[in-house]
Amino acid sequence: MKFPSISEIATTEVVSTDINQSIANAMKIMFSHEHRNIIVLDGDVFRILTVNDILNIKAKNIDLNISLKDLKLTAVPIVKKDKSVLHTLEYLSYNIEYICAVNDDGSLYGLITHTDVISSVDPDTLMDNFYLNDFLKLGKRAKWINKDVKTQDLFCDLLHNTSDSVIVVENFKPIGIFTTKDVIRVMKQDDDLSLAVSNYMSSPVDTITKNASVKEALEFLKNKHYKRVVVVDEEGNISGIISQKELISLTYSKWVILMKEYQEELDKINTSLLHKNKKYEQLASKDSLSGLYNRTKFLELYEASYEIMRQRENEMSLIIMDIDNFKIINDTYGHNIGDKVIIQISQALLNVLRSIDIVCRWGGEEFVILLPAVNFDNALAIAQKLRVYIQELEIENIGRITASFGVSKVKKDGDINAVIDRADKALYLAKASGRNCVKAETDL
Ligand code: GH3
Ligand code: MG
Ligand code: MG
Repeated sequence: MKFPSISEIATTEVVSTDINQSIANAMKIMFSHEHRNIIVLDGDVFRILTVNDILNIKAKNIDLNISLKDLKLTAVPIVKKDKSVLHTLEYLSYNIEYICAVNDDGSLYGLITHTDVISSVDPDTLMDNFYLNDFLKLGKRAKWINKDVKTQDLFCDLLHNTSDSVIVVENFKPIGIFTTKDVIRVMKQDDDLSLAVSNYMSSPVDTITKNASVKEALEFLKNKHYKRVVVVDEEGNISGIISQKELISLTYSKWVILMKEYQEELDKINTSLLHKNKKYEQLASKDSLSGLYNRTKFLELYEASYEIMRQRENEMSLIIMDIDNFKIINDTYGHNIGDKVIIQISQALLNVLRSIDIVCRWGGEEFVILLPAVNFDNALAIAQKLRVYIQELEIENIGRITASFGVSKVKKDGDINAVIDRADKALYLAKASGRNCVKAETDL
């Protein structure tokens, strides 16, 4: 389920005028385009002049030649056109009828009203089981007048009510509708306002039964481009009117709840996938006994380190370490104790080395350590330091053990196999020299 963007639903057919223009000019533009509103450009701010405002102006006998600036026109909220339709919902309340959609540079792209939002709703996903009858029970919804009411009284009524239309009834049966569009028509033609409203209403009026679902009502509004549904009972008597905005609020709040549920579910799935990925990555890069890097990860990290070494033109060294007489440890104390020794020695290596050094369990009781930005002499010193540290380490259940070391330097060609091979030969020499010592490739 994807919410449409503002640009997909905004009406781009808008008329606008400058705030310094007169009211009369603005009305002229509105009437010639048969628009119910006009955007008033006031610097960065967009204001709006509507038919209701004009009724108000006329009622108060305000001079039409004064500038729009002198009217206290409300500023219209602004939403960027690439935002989701959900961003309009907080504005399209009962008080705010319009939102301006703007381009990235802040210029006017179009206007959004409840009509635009409603035409973006996909009724298939929603409101199947909610009926208009339930909805009508929620409160006072109806606004209708008798067909004999004088048009001027209706204008007065429209002025003092926030509703933008009334249903004209005869013996409780809806026979017509009078909307702001009809107001424009009557005003344009300078018609006689003392005549009954039935002379000017749009007739007949389409109705929908109160047993219809909200989904059907939404489809009805979409297809007919209406702003409201007139609801009738089984006898065709008026039951009420439900406006677009009421349906929208209901529908979207339901939609948002649905989305929220999906979102929470998606978040859960995401989190668990993330955990799994981390686990897999660890499995793929770490040795399970010691927690040190495995060979595969070591080789990968070596490549990255070598690249940095090449760029910074510094040196890099490598140490191979092998625990002395480990076989005897295993044979004497058992394999489990042997495992614990490997764990304790691994921790010892991490304790002594820097965090940027790359420590790998190469296999068995053999470790390879890559020392980025460390020259050969310093690597020898580090190996000695490790040797002493291990020699003095109190190993649980066992006491003291020792290890042997082979040291080599990474050459310009970066061939890892050659570096390891030279360190390995040095290690072999250390073993041959009586163990618990450090040998370098230069000793070979
Ligand atoms: P040297 O001083 O020459 O290195 O003698 P060593 O006994 O350490 O050498 P050798 O390679 O002969 O023995 C290594 C032993 O380490 C053999 C193997 O059973 C044992 N080993 C290898 N991996 C593990 C492990 O994960 N846990 C335990 N407990 N033992 C292991
Ligand atoms: Mg060994
Ligand atoms: Mg070994």
